[in-house]
Amino acid sequence: MSKNPGLTVLAGPTAVGKGTVSTYIRDNYPEVWLSVSATTRAPRPGEKDGVHYFFKSAEEFDALVEGGQLLEWAVVHGKNRYGTLRSTVDAAIAEGKSVLLEIDLQGARQVKAAVPDANFVFLAPPSWDEMVRRLVGRGTETPEEQQRRLETAKLELAAEPEFDHTVINDEVRRAADELVSLMGLTPHQR
Ligand code: 5GP
Repeated sequence: MSKNPGLTVLAGPTAVGKGTVSTYIRDNYPEVWLSVSATTRAPRPGEKDGVHYFFKSAEEFDALVEGGQLLEWAVVHGKNRYGTLRSTVDAAIAEGKSVLLEIDLQGARQVKAAVPDANFVFLAPPSWDEMVRRLVGRGTETPEEQQRRLETAKLELAAEPEFDHTVINDEVRRAADELVSLMGLTPHQR
């Protein structure tokens, strides 16, 4: 644990498994307040509005940006916009909750500018080959989309030194437990 344990930002390369780790935390660590982002991307099968994301039209997202309602936002993979709702995060921090943002690197940099004493955690793949395997294995993106995500991932890997801590996502449960420890919480006994 270090810095401000009230606000932790988890970022890392594409397909490193940030989503899997945050899903594990949502399902197993109710003591972690996981921010639900707004996005212009369409829901994937099984995704629920208000649980996985707040799904927004381009116009609705514009209004959030213009109204200053986003703590950070970014265009991810050159396509859709994603952003963190400022009011809900501020309220959770004020209530003393342990807040976790799972966002991309551009967003993490914006949070670092706004809240320098937040706790920044980089989720790293065990290896480049493993990261490529995970991306291709997911099978939800077209080859062009996969290529675009890999290009983004190369740039993102170089950002590790900007972070306070690195967690290797070798195994989801272990990585989630380490992240929870870095948030100042106690990992569950098993
Ligand atoms: P996906 O479309 O696979 O759910 O997410 C794509 C990427 O968007 C992931 O790298 C995820 O970290 C990022 N992302 C999700 N929510 C936010 C957000 O609120 N802000 C930013 N900057 N990135 C986000």
